[in-house]
Amino acid sequence: MKLTDYYRKKIHYEELIATFDDMLILPGYTGFNIDDVDITSSLGNKYQFNMPIMSSAMDTVTEEEMAIKMALLGGLGVLHRNCSYEKQLEMVRKVKRARSFVIDDVATIKNDAKIAEAKLRMESDGISGLVVVDDKDRVCGIFTQRDFPYQEELLNTGDVKDYMTKKVVSITPGASRDEALQKLFENRIEKLPIIEEGKLKGLITIKDLKPEFPLASKDKEGRLLCGLALSPKVPNNMASLSILKEIDAYVDLFFIDVAEFYKKIDIDGAKELMSILESDFILGNIGTYEAAEHLLTKVDFSEQFIALKAGMGSGSICSTSIQTGVGAPTLYATAQVADAIADYNPKIGLISDGGFKNPGDLPKAISVGADMIMSGHFFAGCEESPGYVDTIQGRKVKVYRGMGSKEARVSEYILDRYIEGEGSKTLPEGVSDYVPFVGAVSGVLNSLKEGIRNGMIYAGASNISDMKKVKVGIVSNAGRIEQRPHDLLGRY
Ligand code: 5GP
Repeated sequence: MKLTDYYRKKIHYEELIATFDDMLILPGYTGFNIDDVDITSSLGNKYQFNMPIMSSAMDTVTEEEMAIKMALLGGLGVLHRNCSYEKQLEMVRKVKRARSFVIDDVATIKNDAKIAEAKLRMESDGISGLVVVDDKDRVCGIFTQRDFPYQEELLNTGDVKDYMTKKVVSITPGASRDEALQKLFENRIEKLPIIEEGKLKGLITIKDLKPEFPLASKDKEGRLLCGLALSPKVPNNMASLSILKEIDAYVDLFFIDVAEFYKKIDIDGAKELMSILESDFILGNIGTYEAAEHLLTKVDFSEQFIALKAGMGSGSICSTSIQTGVGAPTLYATAQVADAIADYNPKIGLISDGGFKNPGDLPKAISVGADMIMSGHFFAGCEESPGYVDTIQGRKVKVYRGMGSKEARVSEYILDRYIEGEGSKTLPEGVSDYVPFVGAVSGVLNSLKEGIRNGMIYAGASNISDMKKVKVGIVSNAGRIEQRPHDLLGRY
């Protein structure tokens, strides 16, 4: 056989590398009430999410504001890693303190501090009040936004003790949610310190008690779930290692974040990190059955390994495949990894990452085996993503950049997401561009959730696990054209 024939055969018959636009889910019998559709999903039988959606670990997508909102709305925002461990620690602390029934790690200030210091602390920690303690650490007041003097000059020279609220209404440890609510309501206050023998044991705030976000993704203590991207490299100095261990105490899920994880060096690094840290791990990205099979059968990871992330080179800002000729489109990668998980360890969860353009792509990813989907494209233009709203030709826009773009790789932190060495400096694997400003993330999520829900109803699946069993097929070119708006005079 001629070599060209061999390759033609391989491309046409052996390996069809298809993605979202190439396939459709077939309609199925819907024998359930449409209000009974359940889009909750779980990862590794351990983490339950009311919405199977995550925002990408990218510096123009997820910092604390996006992470908090994604978790409040039932999904997860994965904090990026294009920064120092110090900044990562700051971000995870903000997420973990954002909403909880009891805050253990209460921000305090000494009563002899200046108001300027209180202002700085409140701004840097993103909180609206501080508990004031004396030199013996006994609670003596509470200082909130409302206690700032109105005279500008006093903001620098005034003392906290002269402006704080001295009458502190408090509660004792072990009080129930109802007791706390009643006390907050009776006294018309928003913060309730937990005090035992004069010492501060915690803080309850009204915003944490009200079920304002009933679908929120929470840990056992009622704090928001927090995911953080991590390099597979183990820190090479004690200072960084100790910050990483501090981060570990807050984070629920570490996402080993590299463009392609099927490499000995990254696998060894992840394994070593698991031996040092206690939180759970999600490994990725990978794109083939073979890579998943290797990770599931040939590497002895600890129980902390709970999920894989699939998709390579598919991101809307990614140029890896153009630059290197290698890639695994997200639908293909998801299907491949799902098959290996089913064959070797069905307890392992699966996240389908990148390349989603329309709400209908989400049910497609689930239909081939994803437990959750991850996107940067849908969320970069939201109010909650980092960066400013700009205007281009009258349109509001925000910057969205690939973590492998030249712009993102001016920092040292992200270099090992790609192939390190001289090459990585000259060959960008991502681009930077603008996306339309789309307002609050809640609105975007509503459309995405509706896409999943309605797709499940048409397909005849009332829950995520049934959705993984629906019939799918590759669609012909003519079929694809017919399945979109067509033959119109307008903008389509
Ligand atoms: P999107 O939602 O834009 O289609 O894809 C986002 C995903 O692309 C991210 O979750 C991440 O896995 C991946 N990604 C982000 N930046 C880059 C990049 O510069 N190069 C590559 N290869 N992948 C990227």
